[in-house]
Amino acid sequence: MIHGSLASVESDSWQSLLASSITDPRTLLERLNLDPALLGPAMLASADFALRVPEPYLARMQPGDVHDPLLRQVLPVGEELLAQPGYQLDPLGEQQTNARPGIIHKYHGRLLLIVSGGCAINCRYCFRRHFPYEDNNLSTAEWQQALDYIRSDTSLSEVIYSGGDPLAANDRRLAWLTREIADIKHIRRLRIHTRLPVVIPQRVTGGLIDALCATRLPVTMVLHCNHANEIDQHLGAAIQRLRAAGMTLLNQSVLLKGVNDQLQQQLELSEKLGDHGVLPYYLHVLDHVKGAQHFHVDDQQAQRLVGQMLSKLPGFLVPRLVRETAGCAGKSPLPVELIE
Ligand SMILES: *Cc1c(COP(=O)(O)O)cnc(C)c1O
Ligand code: SF4
Repeated sequence: MIHGSLASVESDSWQSLLASSITDPRTLLERLNLDPALLGPAMLASADFALRVPEPYLARMQPGDVHDPLLRQVLPVGEELLAQPGYQLDPLGEQQTNARPGIIHKYHGRLLLIVSGGCAINCRYCFRRHFPYEDNNLSTAEWQQALDYIRSDTSLSEVIYSGGDPLAANDRRLAWLTREIADIKHIRRLRIHTRLPVVIPQRVTGGLIDALCATRLPVTMVLHCNHANEIDQHLGAAIQRLRAAGMTLLNQSVLLKGVNDQLQQQLELSEKLGDHGVLPYYLHVLDHVKGAQHFHVDDQQAQRLVGQMLSKLPGFLVPRLVRETAGCAGKSPLPVELIE
C-alpha cells in the first residue's frame, strides 16, 4: 500500500519537527538577529512558562523585527512577571470542572477530551499556561473510564478533542479513540480544537486524515490562527487536504494587543482564511490569566474593531466576539454594532 508507507515517512517528519522545536531563548534571539538585551527577561519569564517554537512557525517570522506579530505570541518578556490584580492562575476555573482525568465537562451536550497534554508551541497568552497537564496523561484504564463516562451520559451529542493540543497524539491513538467514540450511538459529531496544523502544517498527513475521517461522524476542525502571516503556502496545502477529506474548517483566535488589534490585521486575517475556505468562528477577548496582561485590549476597543469589520466584510467572514467566564455553560457574545 503506497499510502501507508507514505504516511509513515510523513509522520516521522512531523514528529521530528516537534522534537526539534526551539526551547532556548538564546537560540531564538540568535536565529532572528534580535537584540541580546532581550535575553535576561526572556530567561526569567521562560522559567515560569517555557519557550517553545517549532521551526516551521519560526520560518514565518521576519528576522530583526521585535514587533513581528508571530514572535510576540511566543517570546517570553519581562512584563509577564509583573503581578496584576485580577489576573489568575486558572481564570476559567477548569481545575474544578476537571473532575475526572482527561475530561472537562462544562458545556451542555458536549464534552472536552484532553487527548494530549502537550502543545507544539507555547503561546504566551494561553489561558491554560498554568494547567497541570501531567495529571491528564491517561493510562489505558483511565481511557476506558473516560469512554464509559461518554457512553453513560446520553445528553452528550458531541465530543471535542482538546488539550494541550490533541493532534500532538499519534495517529494510532487518534484512530482508536475516534472508532470507540463513533461506536457510541448518542454521539453525533466530532470536533477537534487544534493549533498544530497552523504551527507544523506537516502534521496533516494521510494517516491523520484516515484516523479522523474514517467513521460515520461529521468532523469539524477548529484551527487557531491569530494573524494572516501564519497562513503560508504549507498551511494552505494542509487546509486543502483537510477540506478535500470532507471536514468543516473553522478558525478561532484571541484578540491580542500588538499582534492583531488593528482593523487592517483583522480584515486581512478574515480575507485570507476565506481564501482557503476557512470560516472565522470566534474572536476571544483575552482571559485574565496571570502573565498575559500585556496582551489585554479593552472591551470597547474590541467591540469597535468588530463593528468596523461588519461594514467591510461579508457576514460569514466576521468572527463572533466572545468572552468565556468561569462557571458559565457557554461563551457570551459581546454586543457589537456596525460602524461605517
Ligand atoms: C469554547 C470552547 C469550546 C466549545 O465551543 P462551542 O463552539 O461554544 O461549543 C471548546 N473548546 C475550547 C478550547 C473552547 O474555548
Ligand atoms: S496551542 Fe493552544 S493550548 Fe497550546 S499554548 Fe497555544 S493557545 Fe495554549
